[in-house]
Amino acid sequence: MAKTTHIVVTSIPVFSHQSSIIEFCKRLIHLHHHIHVTCIFPTIDAPIPATLKLLESLPSSINCTFLPPINKQDLPHDVVLEIELAVVQSMPSLRSSLRLLCSTSTCTPVSALVVDPFASHALEIAKDLNLLSFVYFPLSAMGTSLFLHLPTLHEQVSGEYKDHTDPIQIPGCIPIHGQDLPPEFFHDRSSPAYGFFLLHSKNFSLAHGFLVNSFSKMEASTARALQKMHNNSTQLVYLVGPIIQNGSKSIDESNGSDCLKWLENQTPNTVLYVSFGSACTLSQQQINELALGLEVSGQKFLWVLREPSNSINVGNHSATNDHDDPLKFLPQGFLERTKEQGLVVPFWAPQTQILSHISTGGFLTHCGWNSTLESLVFGVPMITWPLFSEQRMNAMLLEGLGVGLKVRFNEIGIAERDEIAKVIRDLMIGEERSEIRQRIEDLKDVAAGALAEDGSSTMALSLFGTQMKNLSLCNEI
Ligand code: UDP
Repeated sequence: MAKTTHIVVTSIPVFSHQSSIIEFCKRLIHLHHHIHVTCIFPTIDAPIPATLKLLESLPSSINCTFLPPINKQDLPHDVVLEIELAVVQSMPSLRSSLRLLCSTSTCTPVSALVVDPFASHALEIAKDLNLLSFVYFPLSAMGTSLFLHLPTLHEQVSGEYKDHTDPIQIPGCIPIHGQDLPPEFFHDRSSPAYGFFLLHSKNFSLAHGFLVNSFSKMEASTARALQKMHNNSTQLVYLVGPIIQNGSKSIDESNGSDCLKWLENQTPNTVLYVSFGSACTLSQQQINELALGLEVSGQKFLWVLREPSNSINVGNHSATNDHDDPLKFLPQGFLERTKEQGLVVPFWAPQTQILSHISTGGFLTHCGWNSTLESLVFGVPMITWPLFSEQRMNAMLLEGLGVGLKVRFNEIGIAERDEIAKVIRDLMIGEERSEIRQRIEDLKDVAAGALAEDGSSTMALSLFGTQMKNLSLCNEI
């Protein structure tokens, strides 16, 4: 059948954003055979290896191309600004690629552009080329609401957000204190990072609608507020989640299969999976405390470890990246002492396969939104250990839903070994465990319901695809 609708998708050079938008495209074309997708991604130095791996199994209706790489040496040594400037510098090439796609007669004309919120500059290009445009938020409804509401907050709140004793009001959301807003953007209103965040949120006025990777029954009041916020405008809001990685394999296959084999030999529901996402790292002091906390807890664990660092690194996924062996940063004798208790996997592990494994009974997570959804979809109770970006907000959501226990940090921001051991025991064998498990099992069913044939997220995505089709047919007439 001839494809009638061609959508172009762009993201930022961050694995979790690219993987989420790719999975969104896969689900979209699964529901709508008339849609063809071209992904055009900015890159820093070279495409991210983890993304390249994901692209190996793409259906023929999705093409992916990378824009000319931006040289890392020309970028600031700050992850937020690095990504931001790389995206800004990629916009002229994105414009040329889109122009070419719009003018060529060899493929279906482009009808719409779907962009990551941190690539909102592309909305201007869509406007110039007369394309429909949408923002895909790989975030909770609460994170999305903060983003969309920021121009108003910026006017209403004076001074630094973190200095406010009263909670900050985001429509439909649980009250949040200023210090729990994404720290690297919100702790200093005069910082370039805050300026960029605000600029993106203002750019969203150019979009025709918003796609959100969450589901209405989990974040009901926020979902309602999002709909209401846009009721009076022509902008549409579609909650299409939970969209999670579907069977992606480890970057290093041997690590992946080793840890799955190890899981095979464990008792059901006994293993705590420990991972801080695709980019976050811990300090050396925190690695020591975590190692000793795991050991003292006496619980089985599977820990994905990167070399220590005090900063975020968006490309630190494998031994091929010229990184040190992370295992050498563990406390002396730890691996020997815990060889019957746990497994430490360097760099990367096949997370969705681990979370869906019967032996896995808990997840110590940094609460990145993808990790959060993956844990919910597979019904794995969590320990919340937020580090970066909107992860504190995600942790608060999980704690509010009663499916996550919180790690407490001392006055210098370190979680100490005894605290870690205690929270692990509470989650894995404590009195509260059966209630937490029941709640996450219920939420798992709700998530599955949203994705069922007549579920709210499937309906929203169907509606989105049908609207795309009708609009492209109109364009052809
Ligand atoms: N991930 C993985 N293996 C790892 C670490 C991460 O497969 O060892 C995947 C994980 O399944 C998730 C994504 O990387 O899909 C991390 O996204 P998240 O939003 O949780 O965190 P971020 O990477 O943005 O901090």
